[in-house]
Parts: sequence; C-alpha cells; structure tokens
Amino acid sequence: MKRRGRAAAILMTMTLILGGCGGKDDGTTAAVETTKAAETTAAPVETTAEGAAGQGIYKPGTYTASAQGNNGPVELSVTFSEEAITEIVIGEHGETAGISDAAFEKVPAAIIESQSLGVDTVSGATYTSQAILDAVADCVTQAGGDAEALLAVAVQGGAEAEGAVLEDAEVDVLVIGGGGAGLSAALSASQNGASVILVEKLSALGGNTFRCGGAFNTCDPERQKEIPMTEALSSAVEKVLAHEDVSEEHAKLKAEVQEQWDAYKASGSTMLFDTLEWHALQSLDAGDYEGDVELVRTLTSNTLDTLDWLSHNGVAWTDQVSTVVGALWNRSHQTPNNSGADIIAALEKNATENGVKIYLDSKAEELVVEDGRVAGALVTNADGEKVTVKAAKGVIMATGGFSANVEMRVKYNEQWEDIGESLQTNNSPGATGDGIVMGEAVGADLVGMGWIQLMPLNSVSGGGISGYVNSSLYCNKEGERFVAEDQRRDVLAAAALGQTDKLFYVVCDQKEAELRGVTPETLSYMVDNGLVYSGDTIAELAEDMGVPADALEKTVSEFNELVKADKPDEFGRTTWENTIETGPFYAPSFSPAVHHTMGGLKINGNAEVIGTDGEVIPGFYAAGEVTGGIHGTNRVGGNAVPDALCFGKIAGANAAKE
Ligand code: ADP
Repeated sequence: MKRRGRAAAILMTMTLILGGCGGKDDGTTAAVETTKAAETTAAPVETTAEGAAGQGIYKPGTYTASAQGNNGPVELSVTFSEEAITEIVIGEHGETAGISDAAFEKVPAAIIESQSLGVDTVSGATYTSQAILDAVADCVTQAGGDAEALLAVAVQGGAEAEGAVLEDAEVDVLVIGGGGAGLSAALSASQNGASVILVEKLSALGGNTFRCGGAFNTCDPERQKEIPMTEALSSAVEKVLAHEDVSEEHAKLKAEVQEQWDAYKASGSTMLFDTLEWHALQSLDAGDYEGDVELVRTLTSNTLDTLDWLSHNGVAWTDQVSTVVGALWNRSHQTPNNSGADIIAALEKNATENGVKIYLDSKAEELVVEDGRVAGALVTNADGEKVTVKAAKGVIMATGGFSANVEMRVKYNEQWEDIGESLQTNNSPGATGDGIVMGEAVGADLVGMGWIQLMPLNSVSGGGISGYVNSSLYCNKEGERFVAEDQRRDVLAAAALGQTDKLFYVVCDQKEAELRGVTPETLSYMVDNGLVYSGDTIAELAEDMGVPADALEKTVSEFNELVKADKPDEFGRTTWENTIETGPFYAPSFSPAVHHTMGGLKINGNAEVIGTDGEVIPGFYAAGEVTGGIHGTNRVGGNAVPDALCFGKIAGANAAKE
C-alpha cells in the first residue's frame, strides 16, 4: 500500500469509526518493540532531496512522541545520532495484535534503512503504519531535523517486500478483485484443493470491506440470548408477516416464519425473536420484494456457518450484537476493532498461507472465452504489460460495484433525482464497475442496475462515535428529529437530503461512546481536532453545533421519554435502547454519499453467472457487490459483508469442485 497523506489517514481512521464505530482499546497493548539501525545504516546516508536531514543536523539523543493509530495513540521513541535515525522503540499502544504486528516490524525498519519518512504503509495495517510515520516525524522535528524533507527522500526497500509481478500463468481458479468477496473466494477455493491466483488492480487488498466497520448480520442464538423482545419489535414482525404474497417462494418463506413466530409466542419467551428465515424475510421486505428469494435465502442460511468459518480462520467477534444503521434488527456482529480491516487481515493471512498467489497493481481487462466457457482473463500486470491467466476450473468475478464510477451511476440510476457529481462516494476508488462491463461482454445478464444505495451516515465533520442506531438521535440544523433512526437506509438518505444543506447530526452521550468502545484518547482526539461537536450539557453541545439550544434540549428530552415508553413514535421508530443523559455529549455531522450499487451480474445460488439466455455461463462465477438480485431496492445495513463473504465462500468451493 502506498504512502498516504496525513489528512487522508485521519479521515480513513474516522471512516472506520463510522462504518461500525470506533476504535476499541481491546487491552492488547503490545510489549515494547525495538528496531535498531544496522551498523552500516547509522552512517550518513545519501539522499535525493536537497536539504534533507541526514547532514549532521540532528541534535543527538532520544525523543518521544505519539500519534493516532487505529485504536488510539501509538507511542514511540526515536534515537538520533548527529547524522541519522539509529533506533525506533515502540512504546504503549492499543493496536490489535496480529493485525498491527507487520507495521511495527516493517515500518520502523524501513525508516531506518532508508532514513526516509516516505516509506510505504503496510497493507492491512495502514493506520498503525501512519501513526508510526507521524510520531517519528514529530521526533525528527524535536531533534531539529526537517520532517518535510525526509518525506521526499528516496526509499530503499519500502515497508513491504516488492510484490511479484504477474506473468502468463495457468491455474485452477482465477479470482478477480481482492475485497471481501475475492479473498473469501480465494481462501475457500484453496481450502477445497484448487490452485488460485488473485489479481487486485489497486496497490492494496481490502476493497470496501477494509474501509467499513465490518458489521456482519446473522441470527446467532448464543450472542442474542440476553436481548429483550419489545412490543415495538413484535409489531415489526407482525407487519412484515401481514404483507400480501408476492410470489410462491415468498408465500412459502412467510409461512415458515409464521410457524416460527407462533412457536416463539407459545413458548412465552421474552427474549429477542430471530431466525435465519426471519432475517431472509426481513431483508426481502426491506428491498421491496425485488430481491430473488432463492438468493436471499442462500445468503441468510449461510451467514452463521460463514461467521463460524471466519472465526476458524482467525477473525475474532465480540460477544455483543447490535443494530448497525439500516440493519433493522439486533443481529450485527462486530470485530473487536469494529473494523472490516480485521476480516481482511485474517483472510489475506490464511489465503497466503494456503498457497493463494496474490498480485497487486494487476488489473483484469477482459475475460477469455474458449468453446463457450470462461477460461481466464487478460490482465495488465504491475509493470504495465498485458499477460494472460488461464483458469482450468473457473474465473470468479469479485470486482465490487460501481459507486466510484459517476458515468455508470448516472447511466443506470432509477432511484434518485441526482446521483452524479453532486454526491460523493465513500467507496474504495476501485469500485468502478469493471466486472459488470467484463461480464456483460461475455453475455452475462444484469439485474437490478437502477438501485443505488446512499449511505446516510457519511461524515461531514470528519469523525463519528457510533454507527449503531440503538441509542442515537438524528437531528437537523434546526435541532429537530426528522426520521425514525432505525429505518431503512433509503428512507434515512431521502429524509436527510430533504434537510437544510442536506446535513444532519447524530447526537449521543458518553455512555453510548463507551458502549461502542470508543477510547477516551480517540474521543479527545476527535474533539480536539473538531471532528465531532461536543459539550458538557446539551445546551453547550447545541452552541458548538450552531443549532438552537432550546430546540435541541426539547428534542433530547422528548427522545428520552420515547426510550422509556419503548413504543413506536410518530416517525415509526421501534428500536430503543438507552437514553441520552450522561454528559459529555457528542454530535458529528453527516450528509449522504453513494455507498452500494445493488445491481450487477445475475447469479444463481451456486454463485454461477447466468447469461442473457437464462443459462449458466460455464466456468464463470461471481460474488459480492458485482452481483445483483439479492438486495432488491435497498440493502439492509450489515448485510453487505455477509453477502460478499458467504457468496465468495460458495463461489470458491464450487469453482474448485469443477
Ligand atoms: P466486494 O465487497 O464485493 O468484495 P469490494 O469493492 O470491496 O467488493 O472489492 C472489490 C475489489 O476489486 C476492489 O479492491 C477493487 O479495487 C478490485 N477490482 C475492481 N476492478 C478490478 C479489476 N478490473 N481487476 C482487478 N481488481 C479489480
């Protein structure tokens, strides 16, 4: 992964906080680690930057500094001779063991080796890498050096070993795209005995899963057993069950859920009702019954198994489940860091250990078809050369959606008044719809292309405390609520677009911040840097936000009454958890951004791609956001990661079997 600027790093950290909310001090503060210069590198080094440090201008000594990592501050000390950085010792930090190890090992070594701050960050541990670079820069300044100039010093080696460059190859399975779906497909195919090559066009793996909070929806009796059922939640079940039949498959699914619901009521349980089938029915309902029932059922019936598979492959999940924004039910699972980066790191590690060959900076351009079968792809490798990868068993398309392709958004959009340049996207820059274009060129059918999800919680102020709706209040610039916070994302986004300046705030209190694992260090960092508004009282918060204090006080007090009443409110909100009463209070601001494209390649439950003639295209599989037909008009929050990982796993296993 390439070096990012400081602002970008801060923003990316906050994106993670938003996606699922907040760095968490998981008590994994690592032992102190030391990186010393080899004898030879302590000598003056040649630089390519005029006036760079390394010219006898350091004040020799040891200096300490800290900078914001993924979970909070990373402390370190740096020792300087007159001419060089000679030693970097990592001190206290709360970064997650396993994920951050590579950064602590490689970044200090690369800085010392190159006497440069222009070294690469480590893929999968970007924020930790950036924190090391920022803190060392601070020490350089303290030692009288020129940190700016050190950024421009040529790097000898870099934080990551130079990746191999892809050449013409023959393999069992070729996976195109290195996000959640691609890595899951690659791992699954390799675990099923296939030789696998994965190509990723960017310099880093992870796609949108890396950027998001990693929320993973599944019914999970063990983790849900302490969650109470409420009248409001019961009414939500009854409402969906009362929907008229839209197809035979829907009627069958509804009948199954009805039976489960009747049995649940007869049991007298007061704990949350949930089943894999209820998850399917609710997802179908949330997508206005435009999703394919078979695909939705395939998704939800595989979620719990896939969660376990991920656990066996090193992904840790907290014991708590919650309701990520737009999730509609208390079944969103979180990693200890509330970060999809945890999932990507585990998948990458296992895939690599299992023999998957991963090539970065390698862009698939078109599919190769032989005798009516997808038999490989033409790829531009990291050196810019065109090479061919032949895949004997199958090609798995996992290139994600097209949120970052304005032209495609405008071409297909049927849902929003304006989906062009006026809206940002919070997606990976790789989400340009390549797989849809490549698939279409070999006869794949497209489905649901007009439905594009806007993420209401796209931070404007730069920070976020909680992406969970359980205890949050949304208010506009007038200090008033305007929507049921537990609603579908399309409803939230449409409501937000109707507010003054298309802007709204998410108000929460200290209790909620702690519940979501946001460390005191991260909170003060956000407050100090103006990434969230704050105040010890609601009136002070209102002043910081620039909204009328009396209006906000009234809104919060009414909200607290509604939490206590635990009944649907005037907007139809049914999910209530905690009141907002324990100061200090926080409120980041938000405006919707293009987030998920629901349409894409048509697949069946085996993740095989279907052609415009209705037949399976031999050798061609697809998984994740590049596919369509699962989420209908509106994807449920927390269903995207399971979609990518469940269908990736299915695609990998099926391709390997061919
Ligand atoms: P999903 O959630 O379905 O895995 P993501 O958007 O997270 O989707 O990941 C898709 C990945 O595919 C991104 O990392 C993106 O850069 C990569 N990608 C997109 N187009 C190509 C392409 N033509 N060749 C190789 N990789 C690609």
